[in-house]
Amino acid sequence: MTLYGQDEILELLWTLREEGKNSRADLLGGTQEESPEALLDELRSTGQVEISGEEIRMTRSGEDRARGIIRRHRLAEVLLHNLFDIAPQQLDTNACQFEHILSEEVTESVCTFLGHPPSCPHGNPIPRGECCDRIRMDVRPLVTRLSDASIGAQVRIVFITPKSVKRLEKLSSMGIVPGSTVRLMQRNPSHVLQIGQTTVAVDKDITDEIYVKQA
Ligand SMILES: [Zn+2]
Ligand SMILES: [Zn+2]
Repeated sequence: MTLYGQDEILELLWTLREEGKNSRADLLGGTQEESPEALLDELRSTGQVEISGEEIRMTRSGEDRARGIIRRHRLAEVLLHNLFDIAPQQLDTNACQFEHILSEEVTESVCTFLGHPPSCPHGNPIPRGECCDRIRMDVRPLVTRLSDASIGAQVRIVFITPKSVKRLEKLSSMGIVPGSTVRLMQRNPSHVLQIGQTTVAVDKDITDEIYVKQA
């Protein structure tokens, strides 16, 4: 089975349909897959598309899968565009890998982190997910400040936004660098961090500058 290839064909069928197209010629003309006919055959024999004459239509199951692919692709575009200023015309090849690897759980975290965006940077609609219909409280935010972390929970440092180079050097001398894991042990009277076997007390304005995710 060539799942990535099938993903690409379903994705194209979805975008073609947005343009009001559904013919075999449109599909073959728009794809960069090496053997689109074989992929189409796989999709038909597994009940994901129906072909009648020149017309290709997704079945319910094909459409469900395509919706997920499009959703992941367009959310990845928003992420790359909003966070890293990648221009819409440069997005396609970058975002194209994300759609295959994002799990449902990560997709919901990304969607929640971005505030459930309705459209991608190209202006195309992003299919809604469960997280968008009811703002789910059980979806973990992608990244939080260390100062907001649960007491005792092991978290991994994603990035640090220090006020000065001196502070950055001080943090790094304590082993507080992106990629390392820490625990916030207490909040009062100062923030106590455990890094490996070491315990240090720091001010809240420092833990405010350290962004973490669940380890
Ligand atoms: Zn887009
Ligand atoms: Zn959402």
